[in-house]
Amino acid sequence: MRKYIYIISVMCLMACGTTKKQSVEDQSVVTIQFNADSAYQFCAAQCAFGPRTMNSEAHEQCGAWIQQKFQQYGYQVELQKADLKGYDGTILKSTNIIAKAPSLKERAGGAILICAHWDSRPWADNDPDSTNWRKPVMAANDGASGVAVMLELARLFQQHDSLNVAVDFVCFDAEDWGIPQWDETGDGTDSWALGSQYWAKKYQEQTLSANPSTRHYTYGILLDMVGGQGARFYQEGFSMQKASTIVEKVWRAANAAGYGSFFPAKEGSGVTDDHVPVNEVANIPCIDIINFYPDCPQSSFGPTWHTASDDMRHIDKNTLQAVGQTLVQLVYNE
Ligand SMILES: [Zn+2]
Repeated sequence: MRKYIYIISVMCLMACGTTKKQSVEDQSVVTIQFNADSAYQFCAAQCAFGPRTMNSEAHEQCGAWIQQKFQQYGYQVELQKADLKGYDGTILKSTNIIAKAPSLKERAGGAILICAHWDSRPWADNDPDSTNWRKPVMAANDGASGVAVMLELARLFQQHDSLNVAVDFVCFDAEDWGIPQWDETGDGTDSWALGSQYWAKKYQEQTLSANPSTRHYTYGILLDMVGGQGARFYQEGFSMQKASTIVEKVWRAANAAGYGSFFPAKEGSGVTDDHVPVNEVANIPCIDIINFYPDCPQSSFGPTWHTASDDMRHIDKNTLQAVGQTLVQLVYNE
């Protein structure tokens, strides 16, 4: 993903020193525990295949593994395959992995969507060392961490089947084939988030055709880079524009779960990410839980973003725990 221009509003917020006060509503604290050790293992297992770059063997093998894990936890998996064209003309063999929760009919609260991308970036084009710029990224944080949190949630939901909502998961493919910084041939505006664009288009078509098997999601949550050391999750700009009530709800859940310090009630920059087509094409209000490092000189996405250092050495279980327990707090209160 990449940043788009919200800098002015962020600077204004900082200059004015305005931090929004959050009213912590009474909500019962959910005692079901998200297991960060398990999530960490799910992250490591994906990395063990190697970088999951498009059209690679590691990508193929990891996709089969993700599918098998969701099935193991009682989910029905659909593989949404498509040949998508990268900005450079490469045909990307893309697979969105759609995992549907069982027994929707029995759940009075309808359905919500949690999603993350599972592909790895093929180029570490933000690495401080230019000899790494054309090497693939391990993508422990930028990819695997989101899927790892989703798998751990699926495992928990099977163990504690008292949810009032059906929680579906989608692993988007082909998010990170966006135009590299070293390529000056085009603007590459639409080169990111190709898998989610495809999913959103198909979802819209199904909705319009009133296909009875289509899920209607009340809202969606995208997880992107949710395992980094020192990560903080600011309120991302596009999420605030499109789905501020969901942002507030999630930030309240973080406070209630005891992880408010990871979720400052401050606006971060706006990001072109998978939640954009989910909002704009599929018409599902969807927020992005994405790390923001306001003081990091390497990138506001953090020191390892699109570098050769985005590996398991920089994954922190405390961050996985903060995000995972916040989601547990949220969904068991629905
Ligand atoms: Zn990325």
